[in-house]
Amino acid sequence: MSTPDVMNKIVSLCKRRGFIFQSSEIYGGLKSAYDYGPLGAELKRNIAQEWWRAMVHEREDIVGIDASILMHPNVWKASGHLAGFSDPLVDCRNCKERFRADKAPKATPGTPTKYHKGGRTSEPEISGVVGAVGYICPTCGSSDLSDERQFNLMFRTSIGPIDPIEAVLDQIQGKQLTRAELREKLDLAVKETAIYLRPETAQAMFVQFNNVMQSVSPKVPFGIAQIGKSFRNEIVTEKFIFRTCEFEQMEMEFFCEPGTHEEWLSHWTAERVKWWKRYLNNGERIRLRQHGKDELAHYASNCYDVEYEYPWGWDELEGIASRTDYDLKKHSEESGTKISYFDQQSNDPATGKPGWRYVPFVIEPAAGLTRAVLAYLVDAYTEETGVDAEGGEKTRVLLKLHPRLAPYKAAVLPLMKKDGMPEAARSLVKEFLHSGINARYDEQQSIGKRYARHDEVGTPYCITVDHQSVEDKTVTIRDRDTTRQERIKIEEAVAVVRGKLAEA
Ligand code: ATP
Repeated sequence: MSTPDVMNKIVSLCKRRGFIFQSSEIYGGLKSAYDYGPLGAELKRNIAQEWWRAMVHEREDIVGIDASILMHPNVWKASGHLAGFSDPLVDCRNCKERFRADKAPKATPGTPTKYHKGGRTSEPEISGVVGAVGYICPTCGSSDLSDERQFNLMFRTSIGPIDPIEAVLDQIQGKQLTRAELREKLDLAVKETAIYLRPETAQAMFVQFNNVMQSVSPKVPFGIAQIGKSFRNEIVTEKFIFRTCEFEQMEMEFFCEPGTHEEWLSHWTAERVKWWKRYLNNGERIRLRQHGKDELAHYASNCYDVEYEYPWGWDELEGIASRTDYDLKKHSEESGTKISYFDQQSNDPATGKPGWRYVPFVIEPAAGLTRAVLAYLVDAYTEETGVDAEGGEKTRVLLKLHPRLAPYKAAVLPLMKKDGMPEAARSLVKEFLHSGINARYDEQQSIGKRYARHDEVGTPYCITVDHQSVEDKTVTIRDRDTTRQERIKIEEAVAVVRGKLAEA
């Protein structure tokens, strides 16, 4: 299948089966904002739950927090986001596309270019030359480009009941101001009430370091984890939910002794790759890529990306950065609050005396939850060709989602809507739900259509209540991937599914 084909099919399945909808669709939609429907909400929640289980519950050395999206503006001053969280923005003078210079196709300066006027193939061709910047327009291939300008990615809003613009209007009434003077007044007024939607979840873990230390007394090395929404005013939103302005992250800041950070970076890169692969059918579609020196963020001494091979090629899923002691030191300086760790067991390397106070180094595995939803959907989407009852070719579409990620773990299907079958099926669903396993009752249409429907949303097990069930208290359980069925005792159905989920 070609790239647009696969993506189109996944986008269409997501809408049709209630995974992901365009935001505000009845109003024409909001560009690149998405809503997770009944199935998508379950899938996203299951991924988050698996991450939390692996990163927080199963480790004694990591605790979780849930911080607010709005933070004091000085957080972003200290972290460097206010001054430097920007992308180089370029306009194509030919087709009017706006794009990121760092993501544009590279071309050697001086190379001749040919592109169509306005980017339309029906228009005449224009000749140009690649400029010193060394890239061309990603949409029309033109080399006729504007200069780069830096564009801050943080969403700014204001807090409090006072409208800053209203105050400026009062000030300037009757005055003749130049554009620059007016701009200055507006900037000043807006700045006083400005507040930002967080562009990453990480900063809360640094800012709350002291409170976590004082409340639960962890010993270095330890981590603080968080899952939550982040916002970036992305210049180019793209590829369905891959890059959106509102998204979710799963981040963990691991605080360690200076000098042990490279060791911990190796530990975390290995752990995270193992975690991603655990839920994939095609583990070879995950790789680690080390950042080149010129790619490293200002705070990082080393960094790896966990990349997934999406239908358009390798692209980022998670960044694992060695952030040194940069963030804790910056917040300490900016806030005037001492942020450090006292290790009673070690000797201070500078003096050789017992007790060592230091600022911990940080390893940060930062994954995208909404990007994970896309990667797991891409990995799971499968078409199988078979033969129908009349001997014709038929295609079975299934989502081979890992059973722990699947929205419904089991569908319980009465073969017919009579003879006690619906009652037995409903009572089994209740049992599943009481045991914390998400199961669904489904009696609409033929049994074949119901199997197909559940294959398409990734339900790993279909349990059918038939005539025999009523007589001997047994049901059939069908495996989504093999379509094989076996007969089990109805009273054992919950335990069987629980066992399969535990083994998966
Ligand atoms: P990219 O290079 O793709 O812009 P990034 O390096 O800026 O990503 P980080 O700041 O390292 O991303 O954020 C950690 C993770 O958060 C990314 O690996 C990605 O999974 C996710 N993420 C970042 N920006 C977005 C976005 N706009 N939409 C969806 N997920 C995102």
